[in-house]
Amino acid sequence: LQPTPLSGGAAPTALSYELFPPRNETASASLWATIRELETTNPDYVSVTYGASGSNRDTAVELLHRLLSETTLRPLAHLTCVGNTAEELAGIISELLDHGVRGILALRGDLPKDASGAPKRGSLTYAQDLIELVRRVEQRRSALLCAGRVAIGVAAYPAKHPESPSIEHDVEVLLAKQRSGADFAITQVFFHADQYKSLVARARRAGVSIPIIPGVMPLTSLRRVQRLGELTGVEPAPALLDALGRADDSAASRRIGVAATVDLARAALDAGAPGIHLYTFNEHAAALEVLDKLQLLRPGRPAVARRTPSPQLVQA
Ligand code: FAD
Repeated sequence: LQPTPLSGGAAPTALSYELFPPRNETASASLWATIRELETTNPDYVSVTYGASGSNRDTAVELLHRLLSETTLRPLAHLTCVGNTAEELAGIISELLDHGVRGILALRGDLPKDASGAPKRGSLTYAQDLIELVRRVEQRRSALLCAGRVAIGVAAYPAKHPESPSIEHDVEVLLAKQRSGADFAITQVFFHADQYKSLVARARRAGVSIPIIPGVMPLTSLRRVQRLGELTGVEPAPALLDALGRADDSAASRRIGVAATVDLARAALDAGAPGIHLYTFNEHAAALEVLDKLQLLRPGRPAVARRTPSPQLVQA
């Protein structure tokens, strides 16, 4: 599951997608059409988000289970600290491993925006604590099951985490996550490739050796870019906002946004990024257009045989 870092240009560029659990039947049907399209590109894994409050736990687990049983895709399960107690999380981790999940993205989650602003009583404080919990649960189980090592991913921030005092502090936190057992990092969205390059350079100087995969979102509309800025606290590039704002229609806006995304991803890859993680928003068209323009949909990504035929395929 762990992405392979580039070595002398010979290793393949790692490719992954982020999905979120659907909120209703219509969203589920559309997500599954997306999943089937993404599956043909044979990604290294697809990640499934987890609400900070833990409220979508059942739909997240169900999606992970279906990905494992009905597709050839390898899921990476996001998990967050704030909405669950440590005991609840240990139970969820065991359940995921029982289902066959072999990769976990260990996150703290955003703190609740209500008056309390406080995480649930008994919850873990930092993502680092969750990494350690995953390793403990894994250790207890592997003594019984001889199971392989779980891959643990973590978040990294090219434009500084909003609560962090400095980029230096972010790098210290990333190093601490590596020491606790993280295998790779995926970045928060960013709008300037220099921020990604600078994070990687600082991290390497500090002793972080795990792959740091740039997280890239197709920036297809002004509304999406603005919303992204609000959600993540990452300031969108003014030039991009300006260009999207001047677009005549949605097709023009999409063209501008996709071109900007391609430029950003290409600059990160040129700087040595070991792969690309695409935040898809559960839509495949823009994600695949970006990959096509990056020439990452190459024949060297053969589709692998399905583990289990899906019910639809059996019926067909
Ligand atoms: P941490 O690494 O714990 O950091 C949180 C804050 O605490 C930071 O300011 C950090 O500097 C500080 N800190 C950390 N450790 C220490 C320490 N030992 N001492 C002092 N300070 C410390 N959110 C969701 O709710 N669900 C998702 O599915 C989800 N997926 C994401 C996927 C990616 C790739 C990324 C980049 C983010 C995702 N997020 C998700 C958002 C994430 O939960 C937030 O950014 C959250 O605010 C921080 O999470 P973290 O794992 O980076 O936390």
